[in-house]
Amino acid sequence: MKKIGILGSTGSIGTQTLEIVRNNKDLQVVALAAGQSVERMEEQVREFAPFLAVMWTKEAADALRIKVADTKTKVLCGMEGLLEIAVMTELEVLVTAIVGMIGIKPTIAAIQAGKTIALANKETLVTAGHIIMPLAAQKNVSILPVDSEHSAIFQSMHGENTQRVSKILLTASGGPFRGKKREELGQITVEDALRHPNWSMGRKITVDSSTLVNKGLEVIEAKWLFQTEPEKIQVVVHPQSIIHSMVEYADGGIMAQLGMPDMKLPIQYALFYPDRRPMEGKRVDFFALSALTFEKPDTDTFKGLSMAYDAIKAGGSMPTVYNAANEKAVSLFLERKIRFLEIYDLIEGAMAHHKVVADPSVEEILDAEAAAYEYIESRYPHF
Ligand code: NDP
Repeated sequence: MKKIGILGSTGSIGTQTLEIVRNNKDLQVVALAAGQSVERMEEQVREFAPFLAVMWTKEAADALRIKVADTKTKVLCGMEGLLEIAVMTELEVLVTAIVGMIGIKPTIAAIQAGKTIALANKETLVTAGHIIMPLAAQKNVSILPVDSEHSAIFQSMHGENTQRVSKILLTASGGPFRGKKREELGQITVEDALRHPNWSMGRKITVDSSTLVNKGLEVIEAKWLFQTEPEKIQVVVHPQSIIHSMVEYADGGIMAQLGMPDMKLPIQYALFYPDRRPMEGKRVDFFALSALTFEKPDTDTFKGLSMAYDAIKAGGSMPTVYNAANEKAVSLFLERKIRFLEIYDLIEGAMAHHKVVADPSVEEILDAEAAAYEYIESRYPHF
């Protein structure tokens, strides 16, 4: 029996992870955590009977505690609760499927406690990769990627000499606005941005896909996960999302991982690595595919990607500012308080305003996050 905990169990990755648990009787859920979705959490507690359930706010935890009083599940709240999950003796694999930088501290605590990490929460590596990766190496802990592109890269490196990697080819669907120019993006609505052509994901990451910030975050994540210089990571737009990423080797050979766009595959691969468990679902039908096409990303229009390379170049706390400013800007956009293109303006402004702290500690990372938020609030005092 493999014992897992899921941070962000009510979200897109979290619920798909639970679907995998339903289909694999040798997985046991020992802990679940969510933000505010009390009713969904109650259903999950009743179905999976974890030892511990955590809600972010005290009110949500109090409400859940009453609802599940007839079960054996203990209910906690806040960061304290997330940290308790991270170090539970029963836990073997922590699935970090929370959205945002809140994932950093529990991930560090879980690595320190020797737990395997199935990592979906890309913000953790983007902001704290310089802390997480050496710590994982020191504790001999595996960080198994859940993000489909990183899982594809990981699979394409399986059994290979990674010293011979010459290039990582990170694929991108291009999002719903691929082919559009800046002038056409002025009137984009929240509904337009949430209409991803291939993937069904949480709201924040779907908007990030439309700005290419998601790809920027993935480049930074790949740099840390695969210890690769950013110049060796090339983003390739591949609108069909069948090739999930590729790795080119020193002899010019390229390994790729293909499949239908379904997050359950990378999640299941991370949970059972190195086994490939059977999984039902649609298969790629090459005769039905009319073409697999590739394009260069338009980084003049979709500045989310070029700004990520700028953040990597500046280093230290700058990727945190890139990520935090984006988090804040996307939430303002989703609340319909700013326009689509202002997401870029806010990230650019916050980065220009920031003085880089080299090799930041967790506290300095959180300070940089707070400073990025403050900058945005000072630009938009009416919010
Ligand atoms: P969702 O928005 O669908 O889900 C987020 C989850 O996190 C929910 O369970 C939410 O709970 C929970 N949550 C939010 N805030 C807190 C908090 N403060 N404390 C505890 N739980 C919290 O996000 P996704 O599943 O789409 O994404 C999760 C992560 O995975 C992100 O980092 C994303 O970048 C990454 N990722 C996602 C992919 C996808 O296909 N969706 C693909 C690759 C990576 P509640 O429901 O109560 O709000």
